[in-house]
Amino acid sequence: MKRLKKLFTNRLIIAIIALSTISLVATASIMGTWTMGFNYDTCSQCGHCIEIGSDFLEWGPTGYPQVKENAVVDEEIGKQIVDECPSQSVILVYLP
Ligand code: SF4
Repeated sequence: MKRLKKLFTNRLIIAIIALSTISLVATASIMGTWTMGFNYDTCSQCGHCIEIGSDFLEWGPTGYPQVKENAVVDEEIGKQIVDECPSQSVILVYLP
C-alpha cells in the first residue's frame, strides 16, 4: 500500500510539471510581440505610417521610417498602417 501511494505521488508530481510546462509555453506564445518591416526601395517617404504610429515609429537617420528602439508595435495600428501605406511598403511581423 505504501509503495502504491508513493507511485501515485510520483505520477501526480510528473503531471503537475507537465501541465506547468504547457502553461509556460502557452503564455510565451501569447506574449509575443509585433514589429514592422519597410521596403525602402518602394517607400515614398510620405510619412503617413509615422503619423498613424507615432508611438512606435520614427524617421530613421536615412530619412525612412523605422521602429523606435524597444517600442511595442500595436497590432491594430500596425494593420492599419499596412492597409493605408500608399506604396504597400510595410509589413507587420509577429515575433514569438
Ligand atoms: S506610409 Fe508607406 S510610403 Fe509612406 S513613409 Fe510609410 S512606408 Fe513609406
